[in-house]
Amino acid sequence: MTIEPQRSATEGEANTVQQITTSSTRASDATARVLTNYIGGEWIPSSALATAPTRNPATRETLALVPLSGQSDVAAAVHAAADAAEEWRATSPLARARALFVLRDRLAAHRHELSLLVTRNMGKTLEDARGEVERGIESVEHACAVATRLKGQNLEGVARDVDVELFRQPVGVVAAITPFNFPAMIPLWFLPYAIACGNTFILKPSERDPLPGERIVELIGSIDAIPAGVVNLVQGGHDAVNALLDEPLVDAISFVGSARTARHVYRRASESGKRVQALGGAKNAMVLMPDADPELVLKGVLGSAFGAAGQRCLAGSVAVLVGELEQQDLLRNRIAETAAQLRTGDGTDQATDVCPLIAPEDRLRVEAEIERAEAEGATIVLDGRQGGGAGGAELAPTVIEPRDIESAIAREEIFGPVLTLVRQPDLASAIAWINRGRYGNASSIFTSSGDAARQFRWGIQAGMVGVNIGVAAPVAWFPFAGWKSSFDGDLHANGDDAFEFYTRKKVVTTRWR
Ligand code: NAD
Repeated sequence: MTIEPQRSATEGEANTVQQITTSSTRASDATARVLTNYIGGEWIPSSALATAPTRNPATRETLALVPLSGQSDVAAAVHAAADAAEEWRATSPLARARALFVLRDRLAAHRHELSLLVTRNMGKTLEDARGEVERGIESVEHACAVATRLKGQNLEGVARDVDVELFRQPVGVVAAITPFNFPAMIPLWFLPYAIACGNTFILKPSERDPLPGERIVELIGSIDAIPAGVVNLVQGGHDAVNALLDEPLVDAISFVGSARTARHVYRRASESGKRVQALGGAKNAMVLMPDADPELVLKGVLGSAFGAAGQRCLAGSVAVLVGELEQQDLLRNRIAETAAQLRTGDGTDQATDVCPLIAPEDRLRVEAEIERAEAEGATIVLDGRQGGGAGGAELAPTVIEPRDIESAIAREEIFGPVLTLVRQPDLASAIAWINRGRYGNASSIFTSSGDAARQFRWGIQAGMVGVNIGVAAPVAWFPFAGWKSSFDGDLHANGDDAFEFYTRKKVVTTRWR
């Protein structure tokens, strides 16, 4: 049994780790390259004295040192973006779309290099990393539709000699703050739409794996049609984030990360009057109906729960077994037996199904959650806590049946390769149990009944829903975000919402006699 990637690459090409292994990425902590910020078209050293190492999760090799930029670095980036705003806004939508065509081609030409960089910096398997990069390219392709999407509305003759027109204009200077688990794709959920709509942009990638984001910005720097200051990059952690949230010249914030940080970002940015979309954490449940195709169930559930070691916002971390007790037992055993065969290891090894966690401290955190569940009387159906290769960051698939289905292991995000099993007698109780949870990112059902699928689609409280699909990731032409505690804001990422989020509407009422 191998794990399906979130989405496989569309093109195959031989890759070798050596392709992007440079002297700087091999360096030890002492000699590692210190990353710089990209401001107004120049790579500029951060004013920060403090740095944090970013490592290869599989080998713990230090790849670079990330400067923990502060307010003055953020202010410099914001001013560069503000200075470039008027000229960029005056560039025609068609010219901006053509700049994105070039970006699309640049990313496609570097797709294998970028995938390998994602694997080396974040840890996920190469197959998974390729899927991530393709998804990012897809957002750029969608953003190329900008000239069509920015068209306004009009209504002639609302009163004698009076006409009304609606125009869409850019919001201004916008920033994206992104998480570690999709270091290439998530910056591309925002950057192409933001600049397509005529905004100027600042990226603050996760300090844990900032290299794919840096490389994307480097590629942008080589595109003449995207002038200096339109795209900027600030490396750092909390201080850089808070400076962006407080900066009066920043008009909109796009955030993706944990629910707790999302709420912080939403509150603080709203306080200074910004437009905000803050995508948070998740606890996604998969309902397994007794009439489901067993092959689809196994493939879907294992891929969703253990792919990227459970470090996906769309990870199905709870399987809700519906039906007769004996049938539930059989399925539980099959899931555990098949999960036990998955291979944990370095993401660059083609035999690997389950990659390491981003860092050993994350393994310790997830282990502590397993121990807590055990202490609360849960049955550890499959225990992945042996070993701990990859410098202590690996954790093998773990399957848990809690005694209390309201406990943390069943209700809170663990963000590791841990699948929790919950039993319910029927579909209605399964939907009701899921809806009582505080998250609403995604949810899936496995069934061969159209009626059950429809009931589920109707009643489930989630922004993204799968039917016989374990990872229900919408393509870029549809909006991506959850409900309830998984999302703070109104307009989702991608889809039509992206063009809405990055534009303001102006309505002009005119009288000509
Ligand atoms: P995180 O919240 O720790 O970090 C995200 C970003 O916020 C980073 O850039 C980080 O520097 C910054 N940050 C973290 N804590 C902060 C604080 N206290 N103040 C200011 N800034 C802060 O998230 P993560 O661990 O990098 O990513 C994993 C989380 O992201 C999971 O919860 C996952 O579900 C979620 N996620 C959600 C989606 C979605 O679409 N809803 C997609 C991907 C990831």
